Amino acid sequence: MQDETKDAIDELHAMLDRADVIVSFTGAGISTESGVPDFRSPGSPWMVNKPIPFEAFVASRAARIEAWRRKFTMDDHYRGAGPNRGHLALARLVREGRSPGLITQNIDGLHQVSGIPDDKVVELHGNGTYATCLSCGWRHELAAIRPIFETTGEPPVCVVCGGHVKSATISFGQAMPQKEVYRAQELALEADLFLVVGSSLVVFPAATLPVIAKRNGARLVIVNREPTELDAIADFVVRAEIGAALERLA
Ligand SMILES: [Zn+2]
Repeated sequence: MQDETKDAIDELHAMLDRADVIVSFTGAGISTESGVPDFRSPGSPWMVNKPIPFEAFVASRAARIEAWRRKFTMDDHYRGAGPNRGHLALARLVREGRSPGLITQNIDGLHQVSGIPDDKVVELHGNGTYATCLSCGWRHELAAIRPIFETTGEPPVCVVCGGHVKSATISFGQAMPQKEVYRAQELALEADLFLVVGSSLVVFPAATLPVIAKRNGARLVIVNREPTELDAIADFVVRAEIGAALERLA
C-alpha cells in the first residue's frame, strides 16, 4: 500500500473516532470483495441478465418468466457470498452504538448477515433474498418458489391472493419505497459524520442524501475505489480498496 493511501486511511479512522453519530451509506463497491458482481463493472453477469423493467414485468407473462430466469441465474453467481471486512466494520459501528442505522443501495442482504438488525438497515432498492406479492405484500421465500418455477416454467403467483410474485427489489420503473426514503433522510439529518462506502452516488436518492447531511452540518467522508459525483463537496475522500480501508474496525 502506498504511503499516501495509508495516511488517508489513518485520517479516516481518526475522523471516525472523533464522530458521535456516524451514518453509513453503502453501494455495490462494498460487496465486490464478497464476490457479488457489480452491476456496472465490465463483463459483469448483470449485463446479460439485466433486471426486467417493472412495467414489462407487470404487463407480460413472458417477461415475468424471463425475469425469474435471470434472477435465479444471478443468484447462482453469488451463492454463498458472505459479509467481508467492510460489512463487519460497519456492523461494529452499529453494535457499539456509534451508528443509529445504515442506508444501502445493495439488495444482497449482507449487512443483515454481518449482524446489523433488520430495523437498522434502510434498503433503498429493496432486497433480492426473498420475494413479495405485488398485490397483497405477502412475503414468499425463494427456496419455495424456485423448485416450482423450475419444474413448471410458470411465473410464481401468490398463495394468498393469486397476485404476481416478484423479487423484493425495486426494479427500474418501480416507485421508490417511501418509508425507506423518509427513514434515510432522517438518518442523514441525524449524522454528524456521513460515511459513503462503495457508491458512485449517481442515482437518486443516492446523490441527494450526502448533500442533505452536509447541509445540516455533518462531515461528508467518501470511501470508494473510483471518483464519485460528490468528491468535490466531501470533507474527505479515501480512494482505496474498501476492505483495506475499513478492516481496522472489523
Ligand atoms: Zn398476494
